[in-house]
Amino acid sequence: MPQNDKEKISAIIEQCKKISPCALDIRYDEPMSEHTTFKTGGKADCYLSPAGEGFPDFYAALISRARAAGIPVFILGGGANIVVSDNGVRGIVLYSGEWRGCANADDDTTGGERLVFHSGTSIDEANETASAAGLTGLEFLAGMPGTVGGAVWMNARCYGGEIADVLEWTETIDNENSESVIQRIVTGQGEGVGFGYKQSPFQKMDCFILNAAFKLKKGDKDKIQIEMEKNRRDRQEKGHYLFPCAGSVFKNNRDFGKPTGQIIDELGLRGFQIGGAQIAPFHGNIIINTGGATSSDIRALMDKTAEKVKAATGFVLEPEVLFV
Ligand SMILES: Cc1cc2nc3c(=O)[nH]c(=O)nc-3n(C[C@H](O)[C@H](O)[C@H](O)COP(=O)(O)OP(=O)(O)OC[C@H]3O[C@@H](n4cnc5c(N)ncnc54)[C@H](O)[C@@H]3O)c2cc1C
Repeated sequence: MPQNDKEKISAIIEQCKKISPCALDIRYDEPMSEHTTFKTGGKADCYLSPAGEGFPDFYAALISRARAAGIPVFILGGGANIVVSDNGVRGIVLYSGEWRGCANADDDTTGGERLVFHSGTSIDEANETASAAGLTGLEFLAGMPGTVGGAVWMNARCYGGEIADVLEWTETIDNENSESVIQRIVTGQGEGVGFGYKQSPFQKMDCFILNAAFKLKKGDKDKIQIEMEKNRRDRQEKGHYLFPCAGSVFKNNRDFGKPTGQIIDELGLRGFQIGGAQIAPFHGNIIINTGGATSSDIRALMDKTAEKVKAATGFVLEPEVLFV
């Protein structure tokens, strides 16, 4: 990283600390392979992890100053759906995972059926919190890596459910106008419209998802736990956690008439490998890092797979993972 940029970033962080004191983990030239589930990716100029109640003000101060100085900021959740370039990430990678926990308001009027989470809360922690409170509705997510913020941004889906089914509202900080108040977006209303298959309105909004509220229902704690364990076990049995990966790499598409994984399977591509990246021998739509894969290997394998599918079927595969 040019010394000039490092000085700029360091000065911005110092200014923001004065505005809102936060516990900060600051690392320069930090390998992103440490922060992605694929375990690939080059160095971030600056990896920054703020923690504590000052997080929102710190974030707002940081994003406006960084933008004014021409320093890009990338928001990182659990790194479970991204392929980070081997050349790394310029500017600041802001890790949201320390902005975590349940944030229910004291004046909640839903009879205890709403749970509000800070966006950096892991899906696992959100699941356990709901289960302990005897609230049903989030079980479909159990075992999925990542954070609440990442899942909302992606409109994550699995086991017959998707985030938009249970999301009531989201509080965001507008990255363009960050000194303004936090905006509340109600799912299905106004700007909140726009959820679809792996789509959320936030993908077009340039904002930081700060908090997310889920409308749940009272349920039986044992049944909730059993359902969560069932989903976690199913993922385990399907090999999801055997190798570094990011889950499905391509989107499904109804027009294909079958799951993308099945199309790739039928072309005999399981086990197909470029460098250290391989189409999982156990799942056509999962690419695994067999050890020593680079992000370029993953990208090349995705491109080649899409090319073969197009040649054989005419279908154009769309990546589900994001290239950073
Ligand atoms: C083993 C395995 C299984 C998986 N199974 C599934 C599955 O069944 N279904 C499914 O949908 N996905 C699945 N995934 C993918 C992944 O778990 C989800 O996409 C998850 O929601 C990503 O969350 P994250 O916090 O890791 O986001 P990241 O990968 O860190 O980020 C994803 C995007 O969200 C943005 N973002 C993250 N947090 C915020 C925030 N607070 N505000 C604004 N933007 C934000 C990032 O900038 C980035 O653009 C799987 C992944 C793995 C490794």
